[in-house]
Amino acid sequence: RGATPVPPDSRPRLTVLSGPSGVGKSTVVAHMRKQHPEVWLSVSATTRGPRPGEQHGVHYFFVTDEEMDKLIANGELLEWAEFAGNRYGTPRAAVLERLEAGEPVLLEIDLQGARQVRESMPEAQLVFLAPPSWDELVRRLTGRGTEPPEVIERRLAAARTELAAEPEFDLTLVNTSVEDVARELLALVNVV
Ligand code: 5GP
Repeated sequence: RGATPVPPDSRPRLTVLSGPSGVGKSTVVAHMRKQHPEVWLSVSATTRGPRPGEQHGVHYFFVTDEEMDKLIANGELLEWAEFAGNRYGTPRAAVLERLEAGEPVLLEIDLQGARQVRESMPEAQLVFLAPPSWDELVRRLTGRGTEPPEVIERRLAAARTELAAEPEFDLTLVNTSVEDVARELLALVNVV
């Protein structure tokens, strides 16, 4: 019996939750944070307009195209991607501050963003949220009721491609139950 062993995975780290649009990433994250508000989630900048109930600075920083251009040009985004006609990006400074303070960080971003994080921060753990089935994903994308048909079509096309990316990820969570997946994600984010 020597020194007290340090659990290998007790380090705070960067966790990236990604997966197809409509798979339920934001629902899972919202559920987890309702029970564990201490879990810090990066707030992205987006050129998309707010949906009903979405608040600036809480769900997203809603920015103009010009503001997004500037964020990108100034290197203020850790990653960014164009998704279904809008741009989305993770503000770099807040994430780095948290990590430097030894606090875990969670990003909920699309696949293109996840790939960029893998390149720039190889120590990040990439988690793929998969739908229970393709039919279920279609049902969810169609049922949201907040988007026009052409937007849903674009999202379905993106989702088809995104599903094929699963092997690039460190692990997969299947979204059969929001409660179960939220619990699994919490353990992965490593908040005690
Ligand atoms: P929504 O418009 O439904 O809120 O988000 C559309 C997609 O953009 C989702 O897959 C969401 O995860 C992704 N997304 C949200 N914020 C970011 C971000 O900062 N970077 C990237 N790459 N994707 C994001």
